[in-house]
Amino acid sequence: MSTLTFWKPGTAGPGSTLDRATEEEGNVVQSAPSQGSLSIQAQRERLPIWKHRQKLLHCVEKYGVTIVVGQTGSGKTTQLPQYLLESGWASEGNVIACTQPRRVAATSVAIRVAAEVGTLLGDEVGYTIRFEDVSDKERTRICYMTDGMLFRETLIDPLLSRYSVIMIDEAHERSLYTDLLLGVLKKIRRKRPSLRLIVSSATLDARSFLEYFTSGTHPDEATIVSLEGRMFPVEVAYLQEPAPDYVRKAVEVAWNINLQHGAGDILIFLTGREEIERCLEELTELIPTLPRGATQIIPLALHAGLSTEEQLRVFNVTERGTRKVIAATNIAEASVTIDGVKFVVDSGFVKIRTYNPTTFLASLSTVPVSQASAIQRAGRAGRTSPGICYRLYPESVFASLPTSTPPEITRTDVTTPILQLKSLGIDDLMKFEWDGLLTPIGERVAECPIEVNIARMLFASKDFNCGEEILTIAAMVSIQDAFVIPEGAPGAIAELERRKFTADEGDHLTLLNGTCYLCLTVDCLRSIAYNAFTKYAHALNFRAMSRAVSIRSQLKKYMIRFNLPLHSCEGDAKRLRQVSDGTYRSVKGNKTLYVHPTSVLFTRKPRTGWIVFHEVEETKRTQIRILSEIEPDWLLDYGHKYQHRHAAD
Ligand code: ADP
Ligand code: MG
Repeated sequence: MSTLTFWKPGTAGPGSTLDRATEEEGNVVQSAPSQGSLSIQAQRERLPIWKHRQKLLHCVEKYGVTIVVGQTGSGKTTQLPQYLLESGWASEGNVIACTQPRRVAATSVAIRVAAEVGTLLGDEVGYTIRFEDVSDKERTRICYMTDGMLFRETLIDPLLSRYSVIMIDEAHERSLYTDLLLGVLKKIRRKRPSLRLIVSSATLDARSFLEYFTSGTHPDEATIVSLEGRMFPVEVAYLQEPAPDYVRKAVEVAWNINLQHGAGDILIFLTGREEIERCLEELTELIPTLPRGATQIIPLALHAGLSTEEQLRVFNVTERGTRKVIAATNIAEASVTIDGVKFVVDSGFVKIRTYNPTTFLASLSTVPVSQASAIQRAGRAGRTSPGICYRLYPESVFASLPTSTPPEITRTDVTTPILQLKSLGIDDLMKFEWDGLLTPIGERVAECPIEVNIARMLFASKDFNCGEEILTIAAMVSIQDAFVIPEGAPGAIAELERRKFTADEGDHLTLLNGTCYLCLTVDCLRSIAYNAFTKYAHALNFRAMSRAVSIRSQLKKYMIRFNLPLHSCEGDAKRLRQVSDGTYRSVKGNKTLYVHPTSVLFTRKPRTGWIVFHEVEETKRTQIRILSEIEPDWLLDYGHKYQHRHAAD
């Protein structure tokens, strides 16, 4: 392992927010006792937001919209709703809502705040995320939720009348549903002026929010409160040459930091679960070679695919002589604050959802981060003391990065939101030409908490009498990683085959086969959790399967509500494939779609030459996942709506 001689110190770039801390602030923190030994109240009073408590409460009273700007970790998410609760905003059955763009943030923050308030989670403090409602209709006073869930609630209660204050958190992220909520909430405020809004942001773009809320209303509609940032200087280092494999490079850098630097945890930014797992595996393999007396490494992952307990492990206080190495996705950029991080290793990449309106394909792509993100990531190293950020790219690359990431609404499939807005009665959608109103099915589809094509598939099951099976398939495609695919994909397919899951017709039926075990587990889920049903038994990912069980039961409630029959097709696979979701396209324009190695059709060719697929992932090549073979004639029956039809080669 080489030493860090290839590093070249640099700066965080123009407009950097990295060096704003004063020496004085530094002393305050360093001389204070560690968080672990302080009472909860004392910890709360040490947060930067505490000094602004009175002012914030005054603004919420006086203004319709209070825009709060403050560094990550200043206490916006955990403290503001509590201040409101303490000063009576949740009396008389009112609820304080706080939205998050990410599920992980909603759950981890709710757990923390429930502990601070001294209540059981789901009682006075709760959370609501898709497929998981840990709140109580009567008793919950502070509810953390994803922005998507609150938006969906407007379809049932257009004035959101149970809320006295709604805090739109992480607004700087400009997630799709945050933007849509900002749009709808401005209208709601007109009709229900007693509703108060808080828009919180970790960056200094507050003026655009202020202009938005005051335009067409009055100047007193909104105000900005700035919590001055307590930030320590962060030194930024760059690679001299680009790294061919940034995951490996991240491992190398983390390893060297551990050998060469004193105390302080390491936070590594990667793009997704697979990279995070590989990074931590490679790091773990090195651990036996640690010299005697060296700081011990505790490798930890943080991404949305983990269970809540697994996610919360990153907050555990570690023993002296150990160092947490946390490999995380973008979650750790602003939504979740981990104290004690002194070193940041930034791959410089992020995975985002993009939509190509020409091909009608949504995909996940790995793209370079924006300068704003890179600066925000570096800032994670300077929360409690001065730190260092290692960017895994040359300094010249920084200047070429886009200044900020375009808002999600400009790069995503808006089918679902359009349906939802229309269902809300907002027909004049950006003056968008839209033919006619929603069909009755469209209205109901808009209410389902799943992608439009899957919801549509549930409704279509009625015509083919296979509701039972389609429900299972819908649950299975909604989770990730039903099957555990070990390294080396073709071997894994063989393994699935050995397990007798593989269906010649494709992945949708293979998923259904996998669920014979799921059906077993529905009945004895509890005992299985204690028993020898190991995580990887039968090549099935037990945790993912448990989630599928829960999603299935939630979707079943929708089916019952919409009077959709739960008939079984009794093994008639043809009917199931006719109900499949998605569009028909394999070679579109000049783009070749590759079958994802996790598909059972990866190693075999579809007999008919035609397939449907559920999802596209854009990595080095464009890969399609979850496919099923279909008969070409069916296109004539069901595919007339699709403009482009191409046979697989
Ligand atoms: P902001 O929203 O301004 O980024 P937060 O309210 O999320 O700030 O965080 C305030 C403080 O609470 C931070 O110091 C953070 O480390 C701490 N904190 C948040 N969640 C947890 C948790 N689950 N466990 C321990 N500390 C936490
Ligand atoms: Mg926050």
